[in-house]
Amino acid sequence: MSQDAVIVGAGLIGCGIAYELAKRGASVTVYDRAEPARAASWAGAGMLAPYSEEVVDPALLALCAASLRAYPAFVDDLRERTGLDAELRREGTLHVAFDDASADARSAQCDAFRRNGAAASVLDRDATLAREPMLGGNVRGAVYVANEAHVDNRRLGRALVAACTDAGVRFERTAGVALEADARRVRGIRTEHGFAAAGTVVNAAGAWAGQLEGVPAGARIAVRPVAGEMLALAVPKGFTRGLVWSQHVYLVPRDDGRLLIGATSVERNFDVRVTARGVQALLDVALRIAPVLGTFALVETWAGLRPASHDGRPYLGATSIGGYFVAAGHYRNGILLTPVTAQAIAALISGERPPVELAAFDPQRAPEAA
Ligand SMILES: Cc1cc2nc3c(=O)[nH]c(=O)nc-3n(C[C@H](O)[C@H](O)[C@H](O)COP(=O)(O)OP(=O)(O)OC[C@H]3O[C@@H](n4cnc5c(N)ncnc54)[C@H](O)[C@@H]3O)c2cc1C
Repeated sequence: MSQDAVIVGAGLIGCGIAYELAKRGASVTVYDRAEPARAASWAGAGMLAPYSEEVVDPALLALCAASLRAYPAFVDDLRERTGLDAELRREGTLHVAFDDASADARSAQCDAFRRNGAAASVLDRDATLAREPMLGGNVRGAVYVANEAHVDNRRLGRALVAACTDAGVRFERTAGVALEADARRVRGIRTEHGFAAAGTVVNAAGAWAGQLEGVPAGARIAVRPVAGEMLALAVPKGFTRGLVWSQHVYLVPRDDGRLLIGATSVERNFDVRVTARGVQALLDVALRIAPVLGTFALVETWAGLRPASHDGRPYLGATSIGGYFVAAGHYRNGILLTPVTAQAIAALISGERPPVELAAFDPQRAPEAA
């Protein structure tokens, strides 16, 4: 089988790159040992919220902002091609204050958001309750960030896989993928089914990207898994409008009537159990945000692994091995960064100028590559 590019990892990042390459006429195969778009890309909350995530690194913030701008066209294109709507909702984020100290800190918080490019404003108690009437009577006010959004990342994953298939991308489910390369150039990959030649291989293996076998010293990257636990309640449709944050816990509405509550952040290797302590921590804050949430059914709990790089920036681009590219380490913002990553990596591979500056994300800055 002749193929131009192999992608290792069928998360949003790998599928996004595959789709962009296929649109440029490349023959692409995506290899994954599990079902496509089911790992972190399925587990995430789907927030497109770099300001609320407090991204302050200028290079990363610029990348996030570019991807946020690209989202409407990205989702529209997938809907037109597949009929699947990823439910992009641009309702902004409400950072709610429940005590004097956080109410007093609102204008400083608002200024900090604005300095990073957020369209932020301070809301008093009445204006806050007008935006989200479900909030508890204890609410003191909020900072509202208008230019953030959310998307249903599970629907997005299904749409992207369908769009890939429609564009001719092949998906192979196979264990034990290893890179085949000499000291200078990639030759392809080896799987349980044997060798598959390819002139281009992209490592988009999420939290496992640092473990890809066969990568020569000098092209290795460091990615560590940071687990996040989440849960969902069944609430009446339209119960909340946008994202609500307080004390590092967020509420994310879905059109189907689920309200997502997330997320913990724990470093315990590749362990994706949902712990009682994790659920308790999330519910403690959520029920403080809106005591009425305690009356609804808990319908789902799950956990996933955020892929964290050594310095918080993703690794994006070429490596010292010709034809071997990396797109991994998107940590807390991989859903947000999918469109810009897909377009930039596909452009780079195709010999085009990427739509964003990638120097700050050079995979060769990884300590392991030294
Ligand atoms: C609880 C939680 C909440 C989050 N919330 C948000 C959010 O609101 N907004 C946001 O932007 N981001 C969020 N994130 C982060 C985001 O989900 C990730 O950054 C993003 O999904 C990473 O995508 P990926 O394609 O790189 O990895 P993944 O989706 O993890 O996909 C990697 C794939 O590679 C495969 N793979 C790995 N190794 C191999 C191998 N050797 N051979 C074959 N296949 C392999 C895996 O099976 C997997 O399918 C959240 C993450 C978590 C866990």
